[in-house]
Amino acid sequence: MMRKIVLASGNRGKLVELGELLASNGIELVPQSGLGIADPAETGTTFIENAIIKARNAARLAELPALADDSGICVDALAGAPGLDSAIYAGIHGEDAANNAKLLRELDGVPLERRTAHYTCALVLLRDAADPDPLIAIGRWPGRILEEPRGQHGFGYDPLFLPDDGGGLASAELEPAVKNRLSHRGQALAILRESLIEGRAL
Ligand code: IMP
Repeated sequence: MMRKIVLASGNRGKLVELGELLASNGIELVPQSGLGIADPAETGTTFIENAIIKARNAARLAELPALADDSGICVDALAGAPGLDSAIYAGIHGEDAANNAKLLRELDGVPLERRTAHYTCALVLLRDAADPDPLIAIGRWPGRILEEPRGQHGFGYDPLFLPDDGGGLASAELEPAVKNRLSHRGQALAILRESLIEGRAL
């Protein structure tokens, strides 16, 4: 029998990606939007806190176990910015071109060797809203911020991100399957899946 888990995200891409992965673990992911659940305010100061806030909200309202993810990019020369504000860096949620343009402006004149950065993804699985012991998986993908955008794949900051392990390609130049294997989200998913295989009860 498939166990149902509510996904605390309305993002179609994430639903497909996470859904495929978890189907082989006997889990059916139900998007929170399909249950009339909206995102809560993300009031945490870390990716983990925000993922917990989102998962707890969905678990409480759906009365189901809940999975949430929170992710972003942290640039060393900018003291970790855009960080939690990655999606709204330039002021409007999800404006990729404006966000990338702002990142390039902020790094104007900074040489490539000092443009180090990493993507982070926090995944949180709560059995119920009161679960004191959530399953948490963190993925980090190190690289550098390019001086000009490259590539057509991916989303967000991918045209500006040169991963250390991408063979010299920007993450928007990597085939999606390659990016999914290397990326912060791919790494966090692999860890989460390991934990599920180890038999943690839901
Ligand atoms: P959210 O977790 O869906 O709110 O995403 C946070 C933001 O971080 C996105 O809107 C992107 O700007 C950025 N981000 C997170 N993961 C990636 C990625 O894999 N590629 C490019 N940008 C990303």
